[in-house]
Amino acid sequence: MTAWLKGFRGMQVPRRPMARWAVWTLPVPVLVVILAVELVAVVTLAASIPSGIALLPHNWALVMGVLVGAGVISTEASLGVERMRHRSDETPHIDLSSVWTFAAAALLPGAAASVVVIGIYGHLYARVWRGGIPPHRAIFSTATVVLAVQAASAVTSLVEPGALFQSLPGLVAVVLALLAYAAVNMVLVVAVIVLSGPSRGIATFLQVLTRGDEAVLEFATLSMGALAAGAMGALGPTYAVLVLPPLIVLHRTVLVRQLEEAASLDGKTGLLNAAAWHVRAARELRRAERAAGHAGLLVLDLDHFKLVNDRYGHLVGDHVLAAVAAAVRDEVRDEDLVGRFGGEEFVVLLPSTDADDGRIAAVAVAERIRGRVAGLRVEAPDGRGTVVVDDLTVSIGGASYPGDGADLGQLLEVADTAMYAAKRAGRNAVRMGLHAVPSGAIRPAPRHP
Ligand code: GH3
Ligand code: MG
Ligand code: MG
Repeated sequence: MTAWLKGFRGMQVPRRPMARWAVWTLPVPVLVVILAVELVAVVTLAASIPSGIALLPHNWALVMGVLVGAGVISTEASLGVERMRHRSDETPHIDLSSVWTFAAAALLPGAAASVVVIGIYGHLYARVWRGGIPPHRAIFSTATVVLAVQAASAVTSLVEPGALFQSLPGLVAVVLALLAYAAVNMVLVVAVIVLSGPSRGIATFLQVLTRGDEAVLEFATLSMGALAAGAMGALGPTYAVLVLPPLIVLHRTVLVRQLEEAASLDGKTGLLNAAAWHVRAARELRRAERAAGHAGLLVLDLDHFKLVNDRYGHLVGDHVLAAVAAAVRDEVRDEDLVGRFGGEEFVVLLPSTDADDGRIAAVAVAERIRGRVAGLRVEAPDGRGTVVVDDLTVSIGGASYPGDGADLGQLLEVADTAMYAAKRAGRNAVRMGLHAVPSGAIRPAPRHP
């Protein structure tokens, strides 16, 4: 569950007296959820001890030792790889320890599996998180994994220990345990992300929950955990060593993907940077060409942005750029490509605009963005307090494919020229196409029966 830790790497957390712990600064609903989850984890763990002792397998000490040891080795190996990263890199540490915590849930009663979790997470905290994230986050993460392990362990205990990896009902139990583990872990962590984030609500909740890559990675690690448990159960605990090499390869693959992702984003705004936008926009246009479809392209340039910098300073200017980027992103569909082209210029590719020749849809989006930017109120900290910037406007030029050009270069040229026409027309305006037609003059062509 790396998402919640994002952005906390490298941030120093000073030692403080209890009354000033960071946990008390959390909003009350978040604090209540966190404390409740931790309390339930402790109570569940305590309650599972008596039955857990009765159900311990004969080689429990070896199994637990191997699992904690394998968890420690995986974390250390991942640290070796991650040291190659640039120090200021903000991408989260990749935590694949659920391979071992899930294997623990499959092989051990809930209480013993929870002890494995505490061992692995204690080490993870000491080696990776300490100094980077406040202790309450680490404790909460551990509590969620303890609950996930308890849930998974409860499911696997429904079949005879011998049948778990030997029969169809055993396989079904392993899959159900995997789903239970993932569900408990994700729901709890995502609930807190959503509660502590600025935008609450079920839509955000679902969005975070279904964010593809995290979920796929979680299931991949859990499946490896199931295989590790199967090998350890059938062949002997020490067979866990065979899982370490593929785990380290998986880690490297994820790391490369993360680095690629980071390299394609603009650090100030989180939008695609110019190079990445170019590559993806060209790909989308080729797709439109093959499907004989339409697309729209917008070039946006903030008006008199130099004055914002001159009046409030560059740091406030940077805040404004990030706020404008978020507003633009918010006004378009997920599949539209938004990039920062340079300075205070943005580009948007609107694929599959199938209304007429794509111009109508592009104009509608451009007008929506223009209105949104004009209505923006950006609050930004300056040296002494907070300043409010609310006199922003943007000039937008648009082009449509295939009407205005056959490739990305031509479309950009047309949209750029149209953008300058919008500037000349007094700014805070939209102009479209080769002849820089005012947006109000563009109407749907009459339909012929
Ligand atoms: P116009 O309406 O003609 O576009 O006027 P303008 O002031 O926006 O145009 P100009 O291109 O002359 O100035 C762009 C300004 O954007 C100048 C530069 O200081 C500022 N700028 C570019 N990149 C950044 C950035 O990353 N952060 C900040 N704060 N300002 C930036
Ligand atoms: Mg400019
Ligand atoms: Mg400008």
